[in-house]
Amino acid sequence: MEQVEIREVGLRDGLQGVATFMPTAAKQQWCDVELAAGVTEIEVSSLVSPKLLPQFADADEMVRHGLSRPGLIVAVLIPNVRGAERGIALGVHKLNYVLSVSEGHNLSNVRRSTAESVEDFRRIVALCRAQPAGQRPILVAGLATSFGCSIEGAVSEDRVRALAAELADVGADELMLADTVGFANPPQVRRIVTAVRHEVEPMKVAAHFHDTRGLGIANVQAALEVGVRAFDASLAGLGGCPFAPGATGNVVTEDVVFLCEANGFCTGVDIGRLIEARAILARELPEVALLGNLAKAGLPKGFARLAA
Ligand code: ZN
Repeated sequence: MEQVEIREVGLRDGLQGVATFMPTAAKQQWCDVELAAGVTEIEVSSLVSPKLLPQFADADEMVRHGLSRPGLIVAVLIPNVRGAERGIALGVHKLNYVLSVSEGHNLSNVRRSTAESVEDFRRIVALCRAQPAGQRPILVAGLATSFGCSIEGAVSEDRVRALAAELADVGADELMLADTVGFANPPQVRRIVTAVRHEVEPMKVAAHFHDTRGLGIANVQAALEVGVRAFDASLAGLGGCPFAPGATGNVVTEDVVFLCEANGFCTGVDIGRLIEARAILARELPEVALLGNLAKAGLPKGFARLAA
């Protein structure tokens, strides 16, 4: 049976837009409960300056906690070379470096042109390759605003394809296409994913969708149909981008697992146990709306979870 990887990003993308600091012990509990439910890759934090995002002031503790859990792939978001150095020193398994296809978005996000961010990525590749074998983290190049930008509007599909090819060429181990602001629609997803996969085969291309305009889950379906087998998602749909007003809500992890399993893929995730993890969010972030339909309605009667 074919596997689909579900990667939890709520602890990073989800919490990024939440002003209330979630206590470290609660974040660690969230991490543990999801791992127990079968989610084996978690983006545990962001290695940005805590002055910029105080929510991630406990990033080192989160990484150390994650690394103490057998079977968990510990990923972190890194904004720059400094973040990569920090991640490598901590011993993370995976570095998620994100740049924006849209110049305007990249400038507002990291105050650099996209080309300058590619040069940064080149330095990060060199840094990773300088590590002894066995200690090299997997390096992911994430392409934010691959399906549209809240500043520039439409983003050229050819630019997405070309940038993906360039990042693969520079030395990414994996690519991730992100609909940062929730502009994507299924036909567009099919076109862009197909073009990018064709360009970088056999490299893994993951997808990261937001449900800002209600098409998140439809976009996951579209990406599944054109060969994507790795998805970012956020427990209870927590998420957003502080630099993209209104861009709230990653696709809901529970619903994405359900969709993948309904398509006949194996995720290894126990949906019931995943839904139980929402109680941590309800307790710690009472002001935040918990999204997702499955948690409200439950699994359809007779729906058999596929064997892990
Ligand atoms: Zn996102």
